[in-house]
Amino acid sequence: DYALYHSKERKRGTTTLFSQEHEDAIRAERAVEAALQSADLAAEMEMHYQPILDTVTDRITTVEALARWTSPKLGRVPPDRFIAVAERCGMIHSVTLLLLRKALADAARLPDDIGLSFNLSSHDLASPETVIAILAAVRQSGLDPRRITLELTETALMRDFEGAQKAITLLRALGIKIALDDFGTGYSSLNYVHRLPLDRIKIDRGFMADVESDLGRSVVITILDLCQNLGLDGIAEGIETTEQLSAVRRHGCRYVQGYLIGVPMPMTDLLGGLRRAAEAEPVSA
Ligand code: C2E
Ligand code: MG
Ligand code: MG
Ligand code: MG
Repeated sequence: DYALYHSKERKRGTTTLFSQEHEDAIRAERAVEAALQSADLAAEMEMHYQPILDTVTDRITTVEALARWTSPKLGRVPPDRFIAVAERCGMIHSVTLLLLRKALADAARLPDDIGLSFNLSSHDLASPETVIAILAAVRQSGLDPRRITLELTETALMRDFEGAQKAITLLRALGIKIALDDFGTGYSSLNYVHRLPLDRIKIDRGFMADVESDLGRSVVITILDLCQNLGLDGIAEGIETTEQLSAVRRHGCRYVQGYLIGVPMPMTDLLGGLRRAAEAEPVSA
């Protein structure tokens, strides 16, 4: 019994701090689960969009959809947290589909030459029902599937490699692009990355913090080499400074994303920003 175990621990005067923290974490998790289960998800969830820049053309090529949940009970809950809870309490299928439909509806407002990138949970690909529902949602949206990228993490692929391979092949047959997200943070990456039909690799922002050091630089260069050898687009995530931007560009990284280029924002704000950028552009032949 969990409670008993902890009360004994406390009496012995050991690991009290750890137990308290653990209890708090479990209580917080239960609160998120309860709020999620009673939420009006359609009303409380909103998507924000963060631009991805092509540094060669200096144009925004894609926007990444990032979920924002404001719970009337808990306030803002970060996506990392509520996605993990939704996975554990069996709600991920409906949450994914709800968020995807919102993103597809918003994407209809984008100029035709800008794509939409959407994050899938590691559970989504493993569920044939979810994959079929994703395909149906894309078809119903009327958006050209070639404008859609689905972002997967290594965890998603390792969960069921063969299943993931099949699902990816199916999605790509429709024209949907596949990006491997947070690359370099998982394990055995090099083992499988060449065996998957991918389009893009997103280099985890953890590497950008050190991109100016020798070690950090060599990691980023290695990943960019890998992308080039496999014919994939490499995208540097988490670019916050001009120094990081010039460092990754110098090493041949064409696509960048991060607070320096733009923070995640509602679609209306993003469209306003694109319009202002277009107006500021010098007229050329
Ligand atoms: P991710 O897909 O790797 O998204 C990038 C995260 O980094 C986002 O956090 C974004 O706001 C943040 N970010 C972007 N640029 C910078 C930067 O320059 N510096 C720093 N420090 N951070 C930056 P966010 O929005 O909190 O999302 C966290 C994670 O939650 C995402 O990581 C993704 O794994 C997951 N997530 C978000 N939206 C969804 C969704 O709709 N569905 C699913 N399944 N997962 C989602
Ligand atoms: Mg992502
Ligand atoms: Mg990422
Ligand atoms: Mg992430």
